Amino acid sequence: MTDLPAKTDRKLGLVIDLDTCVGCHACVVACKGWNTENYGTALSDTDAYGAAPEGTFLNRVHTYEVTPPQGAPVVVHFPKSCLHCEDAPCVTVCPTGASYKRAEDGIVLVNEEDCIGCGLCAWACPYGAREMDAVAGVMKKCTLCVDRIYNENLAPEDREPACVRTCPAGARHFGDLGDPDSAVSRLVADRGGIDLMPEQGTKPVNKYLPPRRRDHLTAPPENLAALCEPSTQGLGGFLGWLDRTLEKL
Ligand code: SF4
Ligand code: SF4
Ligand code: SF4
Repeated sequence: MTDLPAKTDRKLGLVIDLDTCVGCHACVVACKGWNTENYGTALSDTDAYGAAPEGTFLNRVHTYEVTPPQGAPVVVHFPKSCLHCEDAPCVTVCPTGASYKRAEDGIVLVNEEDCIGCGLCAWACPYGAREMDAVAGVMKKCTLCVDRIYNENLAPEDREPACVRTCPAGARHFGDLGDPDSAVSRLVADRGGIDLMPEQGTKPVNKYLPPRRRDHLTAPPENLAALCEPSTQGLGGFLGWLDRTLEKL
Protein backbone atom coordinates (compact mmCIF):
# COMPACT_ATOMS: atom_id res chain seq x y z
CA MET A 1 0.00 0.00 0.00
CA THR A 2 1.17 3.49 -0.82
CA ASP A 3 -0.06 6.66 0.90
CA LEU A 4 -1.55 9.65 -0.85
CA PRO A 5 -0.57 13.16 0.25
CA ALA A 6 -3.08 14.65 2.70
CA LYS A 7 -3.43 17.57 0.32
CA THR A 8 -1.67 19.00 -2.70
CA ASP A 9 -0.55 22.60 -3.20
CA ARG A 10 -1.92 22.67 -6.73
CA LYS A 11 -4.18 20.46 -8.83
CA LEU A 12 -2.68 20.43 -12.29
CA GLY A 13 -4.85 18.79 -14.89
CA LEU A 14 -6.56 18.92 -18.26
CA VAL A 15 -9.91 20.29 -19.35
CA ILE A 16 -11.13 18.56 -22.51
CA ASP A 17 -13.87 20.08 -24.62
CA LEU A 18 -16.09 17.34 -26.06
CA ASP A 19 -17.90 19.99 -28.09
CA THR A 20 -14.92 20.97 -30.20
CA CYS A 21 -12.82 17.78 -30.30
CA VAL A 22 -12.88 16.56 -33.91
CA GLY A 23 -11.29 13.17 -33.24
CA CYS A 24 -8.19 13.88 -35.31
CA HIS A 25 -5.86 11.93 -32.97
CA ALA A 26 -3.16 14.61 -33.22
CA CYS A 27 -2.96 14.59 -29.42
CA VAL A 28 -2.42 10.83 -29.47
CA VAL A 29 0.48 11.15 -31.89
CA ALA A 30 2.04 14.11 -30.04
CA CYS A 31 1.79 12.24 -26.73
CA LYS A 32 3.33 9.11 -28.16
CA GLY A 33 6.14 11.07 -29.77
CA TRP A 34 7.09 13.10 -26.73
CA ASN A 35 6.84 10.24 -24.26
CA THR A 36 8.80 7.89 -26.47
CA GLU A 37 11.71 10.28 -26.69
CA ASN A 38 11.76 11.65 -23.17
CA TYR A 39 10.48 10.67 -19.66
CA GLY A 40 11.13 7.01 -18.77
CA THR A 41 11.60 4.16 -21.18
CA ALA A 42 10.23 4.46 -24.70
CA LEU A 43 6.60 3.56 -25.36
CA SER A 44 6.79 0.25 -27.17
CA ASP A 45 5.31 -0.80 -30.49
CA THR A 46 5.46 -4.38 -31.68
CA ASP A 47 4.45 -5.80 -35.05
CA ALA A 48 3.46 -2.25 -36.02
CA TYR A 49 2.81 -3.17 -39.66
CA GLY A 50 1.97 -6.84 -39.12
CA ALA A 51 -1.13 -8.85 -38.37
CA ALA A 52 -1.21 -8.24 -34.63
CA PRO A 53 0.05 -4.74 -33.86
CA GLU A 54 0.43 -3.81 -30.19
CA GLY A 55 1.46 -0.53 -28.72
CA THR A 56 1.54 1.54 -25.56
CA PHE A 57 -0.40 4.79 -25.70
CA LEU A 58 -0.93 7.15 -22.75
CA ASN A 59 -3.73 9.03 -24.48
CA ARG A 60 -6.41 7.43 -26.63
CA VAL A 61 -9.44 8.84 -28.44
CA HIS A 62 -12.67 6.83 -28.57
CA THR A 63 -15.51 7.76 -30.90
CA TYR A 64 -19.20 7.12 -30.21
CA GLU A 65 -22.49 7.90 -31.90
CA VAL A 66 -25.01 8.95 -29.27
CA THR A 67 -28.66 9.90 -29.55
CA PRO A 68 -29.84 12.48 -27.00
CA PRO A 69 -33.37 11.95 -25.58
CA GLN A 70 -34.76 14.69 -27.81
CA GLY A 71 -32.57 15.13 -30.82
CA ALA A 72 -30.75 13.65 -33.74
CA PRO A 73 -27.76 11.31 -33.33
CA VAL A 74 -24.44 13.06 -32.83
CA VAL A 75 -20.88 11.78 -33.00
CA VAL A 76 -18.80 12.44 -29.89
CA HIS A 77 -15.04 12.03 -29.82
CA PHE A 78 -13.83 11.17 -26.35
CA PRO A 79 -10.12 11.57 -25.55
CA LYS A 80 -9.02 9.73 -22.44
CA SER A 81 -5.86 9.65 -20.38
CA CYS A 82 -5.07 9.57 -16.66
CA LEU A 83 -7.25 12.05 -14.76
CA HIS A 84 -4.75 12.56 -11.89
CA CYS A 85 -7.41 11.70 -9.31
CA GLU A 86 -7.29 13.20 -5.82
CA ASP A 87 -8.24 9.84 -4.27
CA ALA A 88 -6.24 7.72 -6.68
CA PRO A 89 -6.80 4.00 -6.07
CA CYS A 90 -3.95 3.20 -8.43
CA VAL A 91 -1.58 4.74 -5.88
CA THR A 92 -2.96 3.24 -2.69
CA VAL A 93 -3.00 -0.26 -4.20
CA CYS A 94 0.66 -0.16 -5.28
CA PRO A 95 2.74 -2.58 -3.15
CA THR A 96 6.12 -0.97 -3.81
CA GLY A 97 5.50 2.78 -3.71
CA ALA A 98 6.28 3.01 -7.44
CA SER A 99 2.98 4.78 -8.00
CA TYR A 100 2.76 8.10 -6.21
CA LYS A 101 0.97 11.43 -6.22
CA ARG A 102 3.05 14.57 -5.93
CA ALA A 103 2.21 16.89 -3.02
CA GLU A 104 3.38 19.99 -4.89
CA ASP A 105 1.16 19.76 -7.96
CA GLY A 106 -1.00 16.62 -7.68
CA ILE A 107 0.49 14.83 -10.68
CA VAL A 108 0.29 11.03 -10.42
CA LEU A 109 3.45 9.32 -11.63
CA VAL A 110 5.17 5.94 -11.74
CA ASN A 111 8.77 5.52 -10.66
CA GLU A 112 9.74 2.90 -13.19
CA GLU A 113 12.76 1.73 -11.18
CA ASP A 114 10.49 0.57 -8.35
CA CYS A 115 7.73 -0.89 -10.53
CA ILE A 116 7.60 -4.70 -10.47
CA GLY A 117 4.99 -4.90 -13.21
CA CYS A 118 2.37 -6.55 -11.03
CA GLY A 119 -0.47 -4.72 -12.77
CA LEU A 120 -2.50 -4.04 -9.60
CA CYS A 121 -2.76 -0.33 -10.37
CA ALA A 122 -4.27 -1.03 -13.77
CA TRP A 123 -6.93 -3.21 -12.12
CA ALA A 124 -7.63 -0.47 -9.57
CA CYS A 125 -8.04 2.37 -12.07
CA PRO A 126 -11.72 2.56 -13.05
CA TYR A 127 -10.91 4.47 -16.24
CA GLY A 128 -8.49 2.08 -17.92
CA ALA A 129 -5.92 4.87 -17.90
CA ARG A 130 -2.82 2.77 -17.22
CA GLU A 131 -0.90 0.78 -19.77
CA MET A 132 1.46 -2.07 -19.05
CA ASP A 133 4.36 -1.76 -21.45
CA ALA A 134 4.89 -5.30 -22.69
CA VAL A 135 8.46 -4.65 -23.79
CA ALA A 136 9.73 -2.61 -20.82
CA GLY A 137 7.70 -4.65 -18.29
CA VAL A 138 6.70 -1.54 -16.36
CA MET A 139 3.49 0.41 -15.94
CA LYS A 140 3.05 3.54 -18.02
CA LYS A 141 0.63 6.41 -17.69
CA CYS A 142 0.11 10.07 -18.57
CA THR A 143 2.67 12.23 -16.77
CA LEU A 144 1.00 15.51 -17.73
CA CYS A 145 4.31 15.96 -19.55
CA VAL A 146 6.04 16.75 -16.27
CA ASP A 147 9.25 17.02 -18.26
CA ARG A 148 7.81 19.81 -20.44
CA ILE A 149 5.75 21.95 -18.10
CA TYR A 150 8.71 22.90 -15.84
CA ASN A 151 11.35 22.69 -18.57
CA GLU A 152 13.18 26.01 -18.80
CA ASN A 153 15.03 24.84 -21.90
CA LEU A 154 11.74 25.09 -23.79
CA ALA A 155 10.13 28.30 -25.01
CA PRO A 156 7.42 29.45 -22.56
CA GLU A 157 4.64 28.60 -25.00
CA ASP A 158 5.90 25.00 -25.18
CA ARG A 159 5.75 24.47 -21.42
CA GLU A 160 2.45 22.65 -21.52
CA PRO A 161 1.56 19.02 -22.22
CA ALA A 162 2.31 17.90 -25.78
CA CYS A 163 -1.33 17.01 -26.40
CA VAL A 164 -2.50 20.50 -25.43
CA ARG A 165 0.21 22.18 -27.46
CA THR A 166 -0.68 20.24 -30.59
CA CYS A 167 -4.49 20.14 -30.56
CA PRO A 168 -5.58 21.97 -33.74
CA ALA A 169 -9.12 22.45 -32.45
CA GLY A 170 -8.17 24.10 -29.17
CA ALA A 171 -10.12 21.37 -27.41
CA ARG A 172 -7.52 20.72 -24.71
CA HIS A 173 -6.62 23.07 -21.87
CA PHE A 174 -4.06 22.76 -19.09
CA GLY A 175 -3.80 24.51 -15.74
CA ASP A 176 -4.38 24.53 -12.00
CA LEU A 177 -7.86 23.29 -11.22
CA GLY A 178 -7.24 23.95 -7.52
CA ASP A 179 -7.20 27.70 -8.20
CA PRO A 180 -10.77 28.94 -8.70
CA ASP A 181 -9.47 31.97 -10.61
CA SER A 182 -7.35 30.04 -13.13
CA ALA A 183 -8.41 30.05 -16.77
CA VAL A 184 -9.23 26.34 -16.65
CA SER A 185 -11.37 26.69 -13.51
CA ARG A 186 -13.30 29.57 -15.06
CA LEU A 187 -13.81 27.54 -18.23
CA VAL A 188 -15.19 24.64 -16.18
CA ALA A 189 -17.52 26.99 -14.30
CA ASP A 190 -18.73 28.72 -17.47
CA ARG A 191 -19.36 25.54 -19.44
CA GLY A 192 -20.62 23.25 -16.68
CA GLY A 193 -17.57 20.98 -16.72
CA ILE A 194 -18.08 17.48 -15.34
CA ASP A 195 -16.17 14.65 -13.69
CA LEU A 196 -15.85 11.34 -15.50
CA MET A 197 -17.83 8.67 -13.59
CA PRO A 198 -17.97 10.58 -10.26
CA GLU A 199 -19.69 7.61 -8.64
CA GLN A 200 -16.28 5.89 -8.56
CA GLY A 201 -15.25 8.26 -5.75
CA THR A 202 -11.80 8.95 -7.18
CA LYS A 203 -12.30 12.74 -7.45
CA PRO A 204 -10.63 13.16 -10.84
CA VAL A 205 -8.81 16.46 -11.36
CA ASN A 206 -9.31 16.46 -15.14
CA LYS A 207 -12.66 17.78 -16.30
CA TYR A 208 -14.76 17.34 -19.43
CA LEU A 209 -16.82 20.06 -21.06
CA PRO A 210 -20.04 18.48 -22.40
CA PRO A 211 -21.11 18.86 -26.04
CA ARG A 212 -23.37 21.85 -26.60
CA ARG A 213 -26.83 21.61 -28.07
CA ARG A 214 -26.77 21.64 -31.87
CA ASP A 215 -28.91 23.90 -34.05
CA HIS A 216 -30.93 21.94 -36.59
CA LEU A 217 -32.37 23.39 -39.79
CA THR A 218 -35.87 22.14 -40.59
CA ALA A 219 -35.86 24.04 -43.92
CA PRO A 220 -33.29 26.12 -45.79
CA PRO A 221 -33.47 29.82 -44.92
CA GLU A 222 -35.54 31.80 -47.42
CA ASN A 223 -32.63 33.97 -48.47
CA LEU A 224 -30.33 31.05 -49.26
CA ALA A 225 -31.32 31.13 -52.94
CA ALA A 226 -30.50 34.83 -53.13
CA LEU A 227 -27.14 34.12 -51.59
CA CYS A 228 -26.35 31.78 -54.45
CA GLU A 229 -27.77 33.89 -57.30
CA PRO A 230 -25.36 34.14 -60.20
CA SER A 231 -23.86 37.55 -60.72
CA THR A 232 -25.70 37.97 -64.03
CA GLN A 233 -28.90 38.56 -62.05
CA GLY A 234 -28.17 41.90 -60.48
CA LEU A 235 -24.80 41.12 -59.02
CA GLY A 236 -26.43 39.74 -55.90
CA GLY A 237 -25.45 37.19 -53.37
CA PHE A 238 -22.17 35.63 -52.39
CA LEU A 239 -21.42 34.41 -55.91
CA GLY A 240 -21.87 37.93 -57.25
CA TRP A 241 -19.41 39.25 -54.70
CA LEU A 242 -17.00 36.46 -55.60
CA ASP A 243 -17.34 37.22 -59.32
CA ARG A 244 -16.61 40.89 -58.83
CA THR A 245 -13.67 40.16 -56.59
CA LEU A 246 -12.12 37.71 -59.02
CA GLU A 247 -12.62 40.05 -61.98
CA LYS A 248 -10.26 42.50 -60.31
CA LEU A 249 -7.43 40.03 -60.12
S1 SF4 B 1 -5.93 16.77 -30.96
FE1 SF4 B 1 -7.70 17.89 -30.08
S2 SF4 B 1 -9.30 17.68 -31.67
FE2 SF4 B 1 -7.74 16.14 -32.16
S3 SF4 B 1 -8.48 14.25 -31.09
FE3 SF4 B 1 -7.07 15.30 -29.66
S4 SF4 B 1 -8.42 16.60 -28.37
FE4 SF4 B 1 -9.61 16.01 -30.20
S1 SF4 C 1 -7.25 8.02 -13.80
FE1 SF4 C 1 -6.67 5.97 -13.11
S2 SF4 C 1 -4.42 5.95 -13.30
FE2 SF4 C 1 -5.06 8.12 -13.29
S3 SF4 C 1 -4.97 8.78 -11.14
FE3 SF4 C 1 -7.10 8.14 -11.55
S4 SF4 C 1 -7.15 5.98 -10.90
FE4 SF4 C 1 -4.96 6.54 -11.15
S1 SF4 D 1 2.48 -2.35 -11.83
FE1 SF4 D 1 4.11 -1.10 -10.87
S2 SF4 D 1 3.11 0.86 -10.42
FE2 SF4 D 1 1.45 -0.64 -10.78
S3 SF4 D 1 0.91 -1.44 -8.74
FE3 SF4 D 1 2.46 -2.83 -9.58
S4 SF4 D 1 4.44 -2.02 -8.85
FE4 SF4 D 1 2.91 -0.39 -8.55
